[in-house]
Parts: sequence; C-alpha cells; structure tokens
Amino acid sequence: MMLNEINYDTYFKTYPNSDGYFGKYGGVYVSDELKRAMEEITDAYFTICKSTKFIGELRRIRREFQGRPTPISHLERLSSSIGNVQLYAKREDLNHTGAHKLNHCMGEALLAKYMGKKKVIAETGAGQHGVALATAAAYFGLECDIYMGSVDIAKQAPNVARMKILGANVIEVKDGLATLKEAVDAAFDAYSKEYDSCIYCIGSVVGPHPFPMMVRDFQSVVGIEAREQFLSMTGELPDALVACVGGGSNSMGIFAGFLNDPVKIYGVEPLGRGAELGNHAASLTYGTEGVMHGFNSIMLKDENGEPAPVYSVASGLDYPSSGPEHAFLRDVGRVKYDAISDDETIDAFFKLSRMEGIIPAIESAHAVAYAMKLAKEMKRGSILISLSGRGDKDMDYIIEKYGIR
Ligand SMILES: *Cc1c(COP(=O)(O)O)cnc(C)c1O
Repeated sequence: MMLNEINYDTYFKTYPNSDGYFGKYGGVYVSDELKRAMEEITDAYFTICKSTKFIGELRRIRREFQGRPTPISHLERLSSSIGNVQLYAKREDLNHTGAHKLNHCMGEALLAKYMGKKKVIAETGAGQHGVALATAAAYFGLECDIYMGSVDIAKQAPNVARMKILGANVIEVKDGLATLKEAVDAAFDAYSKEYDSCIYCIGSVVGPHPFPMMVRDFQSVVGIEAREQFLSMTGELPDALVACVGGGSNSMGIFAGFLNDPVKIYGVEPLGRGAELGNHAASLTYGTEGVMHGFNSIMLKDENGEPAPVYSVASGLDYPSSGPEHAFLRDVGRVKYDAISDDETIDAFFKLSRMEGIIPAIESAHAVAYAMKLAKEMKRGSILISLSGRGDKDMDYIIEKYGIR
C-alpha cells in the first residue's frame, strides 16, 4: 500500500476497521469466551465515547486530578549546544504519577465504572502500569488486582509499595521465568474466570481489539494538546516529531495529533546493547509478522516462533512486539522507526538533566537521544519530543550502574 492511498482526513474513522484491523495487523486472537468479553467492552466503549457525560467527566478529571494540559517546554540550552535546530518537549513527565500512562488508565477505569464493573485487573512488569491503574482504581473506588512476576516484585520494591499503599492487591506469579510474560498469562487467566465483574486494563496500544484503538484514543489528548500549544507558541507546526516506542502508547498518543500534517514522524525503539537477538527490544526494526497476546503485529521471535527474550536499559520498553497500528504506519511509510542504544540513551539522560533541569525517564531519554541525532542532521527547523515520563523511578538504577557522571 502506498502512502498516498490513505486519506488522513478520515483516518480515525477508518482505522481500525470494525474487526479491529489496521491493514493486516490487529484483530482479536483470544478464546471464544474472551472474544465475547472484548465485544462487550467494544460496545460499551462505542456507546460512551459518543456521550457528552463521559467525555465531560474525563475532561474534568484530566484538568482537576491529572494536571492537564501538560506544558510544552522549549529546550533552549540543549538546542544551542547542538546547533540551530530548536528542540521542544511535551511534558508528560508532569502528569500525576509521573508519566503518560494515567491518560489511558483513567479512561479505562471510568469505562469500567460505566459498565458497572467492580474491579480492574492488569499485569505489570516494572510496575509503572500497575501504579497508574492502582491510582485510577483508588480514584473511582474500584478493586484492583495487579499480577506481577516474583522476579519483578523483588526488583521493583518501591512500585510494589506504591500499589499496596493505593489499596491494590499485588498478586505474585511464580510460574516459569516469573516476569512480565507469565504475569500477562496469569492475568488473562484470572480475567477469563471473572470477566462478568471486572475488566482487564491493558497498559499500552497492544492486546486484542478494542484495546489498541481505545488506548490510542485515550492517549490522543497528548497530540491534540501538543498541536494547539505548538502552534500558539511558534506560529507553525514542528518539522519533526519524536517519541519512544515500547508497546507504543505515548508515541501513538502524540502521533495521533499530527498524522494529517506535513510533519515527519519518528518512532524510537530500544537498541539495548546491539542488533543481535536477545540484546535489544527493537521489534519494528528487526521483527517479523506474528501473533502474541491476542493480536497480530510485528514481533521478535526465537527459533521456535515464540516471543524472543528482549532486553533494554529501560524496563518500560522491554516488550517483544509493538501495537498493530505502529506496524501499519511503518508499512505505509507514514512513520519511520529507528533504534537508539543504551549508551546514547544514558548520554541524553544526563544532557537533558544537566542542561534543562529535567530528569527524564530512561524510556523517554531514548526519544531525546534520537532528537539530538536528528537535530545534527537537519541543520535547521524544530523537533517536538514526547517526554513520556520523569526519571524518579530510575534514580537508584542510574546511580548504581553509572554513578554520577
Ligand atoms: C511505560 C512507559 C513507556 C513505554 O510504553 P509505551 O506504551 O510505548 O508508551 C514509555 N515511557 C514511560 C515513561 C513509561 O512509563
């Protein structure tokens, strides 16, 4: 398919189609029982997303509880240290709980409430999605079960404590390698037994339809705000847009505001220690088509066709696939995906901290590193970076591994 066959004016009404496909990617690859649960969520979502009551409530929450709109900051000192290109950051690090994840968790929990559900269920790896969902559940008075591997529980003590303080049940998963994949399996398993009383809240634009669409829609507030803000700050649109891609929610959210504009869009994946399988999590850069966790997309596979082990210095980017819409936007050429190494990321982490007084999440530092590279190539113009989260959660790791540079 060629780029010019897509009409971006009607893009959001066309993609995904009614079966949840973006081109050949997406879909609902789950048991018949869970298919029914997904249909129920889809029906409820399409009903309420047209309701002024739901939209009004979500807007109020964003303003009064989350702290939206988040600002855009001009990164003046960082820009002039590189050359003439001006770098800007959309500050999702200033969202309540410190990252963009609350944008979709508040939406998902509000949907759960409208559907009369008593509980939200999710898995978590590093604990960021768990903390955001536990926050949303506390706000709405919903029960919250978070499935987490024993290995991750041991590694992520501060986030486990936050979830517990917020009133969530953290359920330890001891099967297999006891990390994210096993936690996903356990959470899906629990959900198929009790989907009458709860909803599964996915942490990114992944999983079976309607989640890739719904999470994109909830996150698109970032792109819609950013477009307006950038225009009013500079009188024009940025020349380029850069965001890090794990599952792909912060990137899809900001991209959604600019798909129909003459803006070059870049998705940045984690190259980790290098291009060899097992050393990175750059699924769109190095992966092939396949089905996992209920959807068809591009993924990294091992020799048996199973999801391959992945690695990144940023635990939030450590996933062997990305959302189906990213696979689609890659194939049609609207978004260019590229990868940034751990070393380039850590360098950008310290540069942004020292030159701008903003300590980014290590995930977000991937986007900063890429934007710095791009700024050197472009020579003039402007780049808007999605600063998906703040680095508080990464302090212990950075000090232990890299010391104070
Ligand atoms: C979870 C996380 C990410 C990665 O998730 P996406 O769905 O790809 O956005 C990126 N940045 C931060 C700060 C995160 O917490």
